[in-house]
Parts: sequence; C-alpha cells; structure tokens
Amino acid sequence: MKKRTKIICTIGPASASPSVLEKMMRAGMDVARLNFSHATHADHKRLIRTVRSASKKAGKFVPLIGDLQGPKIRLGELPKEGVELPQGGTMIISTNADRYQEGVLPVTYKNLHLDVKKGDRILIDDGIFELNVLRVSGYRIHTKVVNGGRITSHKGMNFPDSQLHVSSITTKDKADAVFGVEQGVEWIALSFVTGPAPVLAMKRLIKKHTPPGTVPARVIVKIEKHEAIDRFEEILAVTDAIMIARGDLGVEIPAEEVPIRQKEIIEKCRQAGKPVVVATQMMDSMIRNPRPTRAEVSDVANAVFDHTDAVMLSGESATGKYPLQTVKMMAKIAQEAEASTYDDVKLSMDHDRDLVSASSLAVKLLALRGSIDGVLVSHILAPWSETILKSRPEVPLFLAVGSDRQARQLAMGWGAQPFVMKTQNERTFVRTAIAKLTKDHLIKKGMRLAIVLGERHGEGFDLVEVR
Ligand code: PEP
Repeated sequence: MKKRTKIICTIGPASASPSVLEKMMRAGMDVARLNFSHATHADHKRLIRTVRSASKKAGKFVPLIGDLQGPKIRLGELPKEGVELPQGGTMIISTNADRYQEGVLPVTYKNLHLDVKKGDRILIDDGIFELNVLRVSGYRIHTKVVNGGRITSHKGMNFPDSQLHVSSITTKDKADAVFGVEQGVEWIALSFVTGPAPVLAMKRLIKKHTPPGTVPARVIVKIEKHEAIDRFEEILAVTDAIMIARGDLGVEIPAEEVPIRQKEIIEKCRQAGKPVVVATQMMDSMIRNPRPTRAEVSDVANAVFDHTDAVMLSGESATGKYPLQTVKMMAKIAQEAEASTYDDVKLSMDHDRDLVSASSLAVKLLALRGSIDGVLVSHILAPWSETILKSRPEVPLFLAVGSDRQARQLAMGWGAQPFVMKTQNERTFVRTAIAKLTKDHLIKKGMRLAIVLGERHGEGFDLVEVR
C-alpha cells in the first residue's frame, strides 16, 4: 500500500540536482517547496525546471509551493563580529538607525516604536535572545536583556505581546507571487498572516495574473502568528490549505502550547476538508546526522496520528547533508504509523444530515469492513467529491481530474492519487476510468470500487467490481 501522508521537501542547494530530486521523489517526496526568502528569480526558475523534469522522470505529479517571505521583521546590519547583548544589562533598538552604533540596534520595521509598549517581550533568532521593553522614547525602544549573548546581522524577530500594524503582503511578496504564478506554481504560501484580508487580496492578485482557462494557484496560509491562532476560523474559511509553521509559531506562543494547537488545527482542517501541513524541525538533526533522534521519529509519527495531510522538511532537504536519507526515513515512519490503528479516523455518527456527509460515512464504513478496495472519484462530475475523503477511508483514493495541473494541485491531500481524464461524461466515465487505472496497473480484476460520480446518482455512490 502506498504511503498516504504526503511529504513536502524544501528545495535548496542540497536537493537542486536533477538526479537527487528524482531519487527523493521515488523515495516518497510528494511536493516541492521553494522558499522565496532565499535566492533570486533566476535561481528559482532553474529549480522549477529541474523539479518539473525530475517529476516527469519519476512518473509522479509533484506540485510546487512558492513560499512568500512575508513581513518578517529583522535586525539590521551589525558589525561582522556581531554585538554582545549583555545578560541582565540594557540595549536600545532604534527605528531611525541604518546600522549599528554604540549600543543601538537597527531594525527593518520603521514603525516598531509605535507598536510596542512597556513590558512587551522581543524575541530574536527563534527566541534564543530575549529583550523586555522598559520604555519607548521617540524612535528609541529601551530594553532589558533577559537572555543575552552574541548576536549577528539580520536575525528574525518576534513580538508575542504586541499588535503590529505591518501589511501582511509586502512589495517583494507581490513580485514573488506574480513570478510564481507566471512560472505555474500550484500553491502560493502566505507568511505571517494575522487575519483573512491578505488571503483574499492574494487570491485577487493570483486571479489577475492567471491566464484565462488555467486553474489559479491555490493559497496556503502559514499559521505562525499569535493573531492567526485567535482568528483561525476566519482564516480557514477563506484559505485553500493551512501550514502549521511551528518554527515561528513556537516563538509567538509558548512552545508547550504548539502540540495542542497542532491537534486542534488539524482537526478543524479535516472537518473543513482542507489540506493541512505540519512543518519545521521534524527531522532537524538529520541536517547533520544520517539518523534521526527518537524524539523526531515520534514527532513525525504523532503528526500522522493527528491526521495531518502532509509533513514538511525545511533545512533537512534544502541544505542538509542527508536529503535523500531523510525522505526515506520520513516515508518509513509515516508508513509504519499509517499501518497502526492509532492513525484511524474514528467513524462518527455525529455528522451533518446531508447526502454528501452520509455518503462519506458509508464509504468509510465499507473501507473499514474490507468491502471495498478503492474509491474512484470524478472531480469534474462531482466537484464536491473531495468531501467524501474527509472520513479518510483507508483504501486507494483515485481522483479523476481534467488536467495535469489540477492533478498536481490535488496531490498534496492525504491519500490522494490523482489521474488525468481530459474528457469525462457520466455515461462513459466508469468504463473509461477503470480502463485507464487498469492500464496504469493501479487496479486489477476482482477489485471492488466505490464510485463517486455526480448529481445523477443523487450525490451518492455506486459499487462496481473491476472485470
Ligand atoms: C516556520 O516558521 O515554521 C516556517 C515554516 O517558516 P519559514 O521556514 O519560512 O521560516
């Protein structure tokens, strides 16, 4: 049985070669993530070409995510040797300084002095350094150093107690999004979102730059701000998918709350039928070592038990020493976790009373009892059919779509095995789809399929045995 949890790999120098990428795809990589915080458009263009050609060779639909940098606030330029933050001492941040001057740190957000107040924490470099605001005078923010040490240029900053008034989509993000759309990426990821407005604005921008007749890129919101946790329902209502970006999130909210938020977010996404990704530090030690820690193995398995659609690699696959081994290991962990009963979505009778929900439940029950060997869904004839997968029937899920692009876009979902049938009509769909899946060795004679077709079937499904 194929692994159902999808693996997203961030592409970087460690994985940019066509042969490494192809091997990673064959080993279980399902999605390629381009981090627009790094590299130029020319570099990304080359990477996109390489991903596309490797996926052809691997015979797999591999979507691309263009991950926008967002309004990440950073320290400005510091001396080469860095600056010592004196433990227990004081330090000034100035929004009016271009570079470091005696005891005064520069920052990229020029209105920061208006948004922080006495007592607010300022965390730097993933929370390694901590400052506490003593007072603000003019452009200068006077702070006490709670956790000090030597700090270097351009480190990221988080403000867990402050309400910042930064725009969620920067000028660079707009240019990167337009570039991504022109290059045909299937997903655009939005960073540091605090509410639904930037999601809607990004969807408008994507639509404007998408050629007529092309399926627009979908939007994935990274949950990494404390405000995004507070407004999660509003964000979920307008986004196409969610990424739990635990790196920044674990600095914005207490780290010990992240596993609980992870479970809540995954459950809400599954109920909404929208893909969800667990990201960051999943196999972090494999950046340096050929084997993961036992805690990392448990983290990946537990994300599967939480019913995530996908797990993500960042530095491990972008700059690490063992990108291929990491994917292999992650795939093995996911497969083992999926084979246990701990990942099973419980059959709940507490569902909506509509026919689609009832069909979803019935398909799940048939899968549980071993009465079906697969589900065949027409995404064109029954556009709601993805909801049938909400209950996670543990059999192969064949999604018939109209184009390669749509197949790549849907490939990020849990268990989804999209395949292309350019023309679909209700009269011939079952026959043609079964012929195609048989030819591709995905099904064989004697297998029983639940077939989700469309309105003619009263939003229900048929049962068919492959002959
Ligand atoms: C994160 O913060 O967890 C994350 C995925 O964001 P990025 O890698 O872009 O910093």
